[in-house]
Amino acid sequence: MTVRCGIDLGTTYSAISWYDDFNNRLENIELPYISDGQKMVSSVVYYPGEGQEPVVGDTAWNSARQFPERVIVGIKRSMGLDYKTPPIDGKEYTPQEVSSVILKALAEDAGKILAEEVKDVIITVPAHFGDNERAATEEAGKMAGLNVVGILSEPHAAALAYSVHKVMDIVDKYLLVYDLGGGTFDVTLIHATTEEGAGNALSLKIETLCKDGNRGLGGLDWDRVLAAIVGEKVMQEHGVDVRDDPRSEAILLDNCEKGKRYLSRTRNVSIATGEGHQVDVSRSDFEDRTRDLVLQTRLLLEQVVDDAEEQHGIEKDKIDVVLAGGSTRMPMIREMIEDVMGKPPIEHRNPDLLVTDGAAYWAHLLKEGGTVKAIERKPDGGIEEKIISVPTDEMIDLSMYAIGIEVVKSDGKGGWTNFNKVILPVGTRYDGKMIKKEFYTAEDGMQEIHIRLYKGDVESLDECQRIMTFIITDLPSDLPRGTRVNVELGYDNNGIIRGTALVETGQKVDIIVERDKIV
Ligand code: AMP
Repeated sequence: MTVRCGIDLGTTYSAISWYDDFNNRLENIELPYISDGQKMVSSVVYYPGEGQEPVVGDTAWNSARQFPERVIVGIKRSMGLDYKTPPIDGKEYTPQEVSSVILKALAEDAGKILAEEVKDVIITVPAHFGDNERAATEEAGKMAGLNVVGILSEPHAAALAYSVHKVMDIVDKYLLVYDLGGGTFDVTLIHATTEEGAGNALSLKIETLCKDGNRGLGGLDWDRVLAAIVGEKVMQEHGVDVRDDPRSEAILLDNCEKGKRYLSRTRNVSIATGEGHQVDVSRSDFEDRTRDLVLQTRLLLEQVVDDAEEQHGIEKDKIDVVLAGGSTRMPMIREMIEDVMGKPPIEHRNPDLLVTDGAAYWAHLLKEGGTVKAIERKPDGGIEEKIISVPTDEMIDLSMYAIGIEVVKSDGKGGWTNFNKVILPVGTRYDGKMIKKEFYTAEDGMQEIHIRLYKGDVESLDECQRIMTFIITDLPSDLPRGTRVNVELGYDNNGIIRGTALVETGQKVDIIVERDKIV
């Protein structure tokens, strides 16, 4: 037997959950080996040395104190980018390789506690991840030996989990998921609706209407500001520069991450450096110095609220904010949201587990006939039970970027220019629908056609970013010039671009997809 799980592969923390359909309940798995029984594990990898298995989690984090050059932190920020780690024992690692170590550790640990193999998984990604980053995440899963049954946007997962937990209240709701994790930030407006079926059946629909985000903004940035405050104070009070040495810096950053959590509950915190120097930092100092970070998220929040009204006619007072990501525990974030929205965000138990909950529900709902059970207490003390299904085509997510292909047109002066022709505009649904394009061989016996895809919505190729090349290979060798090749391409349900090609004779030919690494 194998178990299907949902994995929140976070920048700073990761978690794995499953839906136990025998007992009809969702379980956040307590990770016995990599996280001492905690439900979340640090997304940190330590490479101890040649011939030794990499280590994940707090043990890896603690090793950063001694061997920072052997420890990789925050790799998710580099997913899909042209990036390799600095060499460790002469080897540089891709983000996919490092992430695969985390995924494998999570699946193995969960497998040990469930006494079943964990093979099929849903992995979540930030909403603003495009094709490259999603494809890289899928590759990481495969490298870990897992069968990736789906890639799900984090706000979608959060909205799904929230809607299942509160299904009786949903009916027709606009949920704005404000997701501030350890390393990335997304804000997504989702329309959640339910439809009553026979008996106690309920069909749930989750549709993304608009979104925005920043791949380089998260709790880590708050940690760094706190480390800077502590560093300055230690310099003033003790005349010591703690950031002289990478080991001291790693310890300081770790202590600041913990100190930051305290500051969400208390007004003052005392933070120690690795050398034992101790200074006090007040919440108001911390808030003053991180105002620009909060402002960056505020501007994106306001943008999505404006888009909601302009593009969909949804007024602000119709929207409820759902918090996801551990960094939303900071009071400064909640206060800012209340200021923008005119009402506080919805409170619920565990903002940092909402994404993994949603991934686990989705992993289960994707099974043939998969349903989840929701039980809610009614105001009169009675209990109501609903059997929820979410048809695949009712989980609607969409792209944040326009994708075009390079085409040639006359420049009107007897020459030709290459330009970007948008084929998948912003807001294209991830629904597996393909668009058809015709290409023609340029010479007799041509055996390959290259189709270049760009990210951007302007015609000038210089202002767009090439993201991939579709190489149509193995065309029959005897094709005359001008033979038509019908190409279909589009997003699959995971937001990854796929394509097929058919020669006009009816013969199917292979497409090799070469993804460019984004810089
Ligand atoms: P996530 O990616 O959702 O696991 O969020 C991880 C981020 O949330 C990290 O940067 C944590 O430091 C941060 N975090 C978790 N709990 C708190 C808290 N109580 N106050 C402030 N930040 C927190």
